[in-house]
Amino acid sequence: VTHWTLDEDAELTAMRTMARDLAAAVIAPRAVEIDEGETFPHDVLDHLRRQGFLALAVPEKFGGAGGRLRHVTAVAEELARVDVSSACTFNSHTSCAVLVDALADDEQKARLFGRIVDGGALISLALTEPGAGSDAAALRTTAARAGDSFVLNGVKHYCTNADVADHLLVFAATPGGDRDPAPISVYAVARDNPGLRIRRCEKKTGLHGTTTVEFELVDCVVPATDRLGAEGEGFRTGLRALQRGRVVVAAIAVGAAEGALEQAVAHARDRRQFGVPIGSFQGLQFKLADMSIQLAAARRLVDHAVRVGESDGPDFASVSAQAKCFATDTAMTVATEAVQVFGGAGYIRGTHVERVMRDVRVLQIFEGTNELMRVLVARGLLGRL
Ligand SMILES: Cc1cc2nc3c(=O)[nH]c(=O)nc-3n(C[C@H](O)[C@H](O)[C@H](O)COP(=O)(O)OP(=O)(O)OC[C@H]3O[C@@H](n4cnc5c(N)ncnc54)[C@H](O)[C@@H]3O)c2cc1C
Repeated sequence: VTHWTLDEDAELTAMRTMARDLAAAVIAPRAVEIDEGETFPHDVLDHLRRQGFLALAVPEKFGGAGGRLRHVTAVAEELARVDVSSACTFNSHTSCAVLVDALADDEQKARLFGRIVDGGALISLALTEPGAGSDAAALRTTAARAGDSFVLNGVKHYCTNADVADHLLVFAATPGGDRDPAPISVYAVARDNPGLRIRRCEKKTGLHGTTTVEFELVDCVVPATDRLGAEGEGFRTGLRALQRGRVVVAAIAVGAAEGALEQAVAHARDRRQFGVPIGSFQGLQFKLADMSIQLAAARRLVDHAVRVGESDGPDFASVSAQAKCFATDTAMTVATEAVQVFGGAGYIRGTHVERVMRDVRVLQIFEGTNELMRVLVARGLLGRL
């Protein structure tokens, strides 16, 4: 396992290069096969682990690299340039590490981060339920106190990589007290806990290199020491920590769009019709120019959100939502236009831009839909009316 020290910004460049090299050497040659096979690529995860990327957001105090938001977004962008799935696995895990850092006490951090740093553990986030998506506060999973333990019951769905992760961070409410609504906390549950039963992996439009899992908690006993933070702290603090993941999703969108635009430009140079390269047609030149303009604007929004996030700016909720919404909408537009530049070849399985078009669609949906992002931006303007 490579461990980095990230004091200098020069190291940001080195890390970006390392991620780009890994993506080119290991992930790009496998991307089509992973997409077609729809199975989780354990070999890719192993490479991410060995390069130290799983411990990137773990604080140095606990043996990690202490990477800041700029480092996480740089790695995510480079991975997404060749494969959105790998970038999403990285982001899902890294968001969990950030959540642990925000919520857990030092003893819990030493335990959980130790498993990531020394054991290469993968963590999965389990917030969403069949009846609680955008309205996450409506979750029904319960955690009842029983002596030195909590007993969890409920159903979680759409959890990224929950069947291959070593631990799951489960959001659950504790009803029965005098607090209304019931306080929601986060519990670190080992995947091999006998009370955790995987129900199924969903078939998806894209993002085939990740699994999307529904599981049930049936009298799942968790030691009280595995509740992260004080009772009820999980929801407020946890969701605030997850805002950083939105900026990473925005960076993934920028990386994916960059990859698609590069391919479209190369194709516009190479492909000849009417005796000339198709890139000499102004109709396609304007298309490529618009893709480039939108991508440049998305990148600036992501950079701004990184800066606001790293300085704990008060408007981070709104700024991160702006970046996520604009960058992911841009990625979808750029990917669709890249398919158009490729003509029929863009609609054929195995073509890079075809996969990107299917993969980026979900970026507009998860980690808060883009409608919810607009709600947050409007709230930044209007306050709560
Ligand atoms: C591939 C994939 C991976 C995922 N990974 C994870 C994961 O690792 N962990 C996890 O916990 N969850 C995960 N999710 C869940 C994801 O975050 C939710 O799907 C998402 O938050 C939307 O919830 P929903 O699907 O229930 O849609 P709904 O909330 O039912 O929304 C349906 C529609 O209504 C709109 N809508 C809802 N409320 C409002 C409103 N107030 N104003 C305007 N429009 C509104 C939405 O924008 C959307 O268009 C994943 C989902 C997918 C598809």
